[in-house]
Amino acid sequence: KDFATATPSWWCPGCGDYGVLSALKSALAELGKQPHEVAFVSGIGCSGKISGYLHSYAFHGVHGRALPVATAVKLANRDLTVIAAGGDGDGYAIGAGHFVHAVRRNPDITYIVMDNQTYGLTKGQASPTSATGYVASVSPEGNPDNPINGLALGLAAGATFVARGFSAQPKQLVQIIRAAIEHRGCSIVEVMSPCVTYNKINTYAWFKEHIEDAALRDDHRPSERTAAFDALTREGKIPLGIIYQEERPTLEERTHLPQVPIAKHDLHGDRGRYAALLEHYR
Ligand code: SF4
Repeated sequence: KDFATATPSWWCPGCGDYGVLSALKSALAELGKQPHEVAFVSGIGCSGKISGYLHSYAFHGVHGRALPVATAVKLANRDLTVIAAGGDGDGYAIGAGHFVHAVRRNPDITYIVMDNQTYGLTKGQASPTSATGYVASVSPEGNPDNPINGLALGLAAGATFVARGFSAQPKQLVQIIRAAIEHRGCSIVEVMSPCVTYNKINTYAWFKEHIEDAALRDDHRPSERTAAFDALTREGKIPLGIIYQEERPTLEERTHLPQVPIAKHDLHGDRGRYAALLEHYR
């Protein structure tokens, strides 16, 4: 099996997550990756199911904990292309602490946040990215909270690659995911991925009206952190594309671990080095 092999999936017809899966498969195929070269870690939620649909190594783990697992996988075997994925609730609510600390460490992994602005799996409650006033099953009078800006939070934490795509714009999304995987460091890709069953506000039509290509703006400067932060936080349309990118040493490079994967090591001879690593994270 390769990434072109069809897989059964159990999302609702029309769910934005299909577009993310398709773009991810295309990006990996274009990069010439084989399933045994990729490890995919996902959190809990509708989007978390994606790790079971790819034919790669996969770990569908604990709610909000995809990033520490993915970081550990990369430290153990830097030969693998490591991708983590989950929803806005998984990444920006229960997983928010891990999000900030994974980003600042800059492991060479890609994190895809499938943002549908609701908790789809549990029937449409307001999520961290739901707009103020969003009407949900448990907030019929409207969400009283302000939404979180996940990409701005990532940038403030020191992210080295920040991008946003839309699941209904596959060509751009494939390019973004390719660039994220090729980036040496922690890449955050937020994908607007509509929940057609529960979120009746942020629909495909709503996004088409509210998005713009960041690269078409005169003030688009993806190498400048302040300009990127302005782009992410200004009033107006939602910017799509690569918003920020810089080169910085990765976690693997800074830990000075042997480059050969743990599975191929003489553990007896390397015991001292791994004991030092465990001590570092104790
Ligand atoms: Fe997708 Fe929403 Fe259905 Fe979940 S409930 S599979 S997010 S459309």
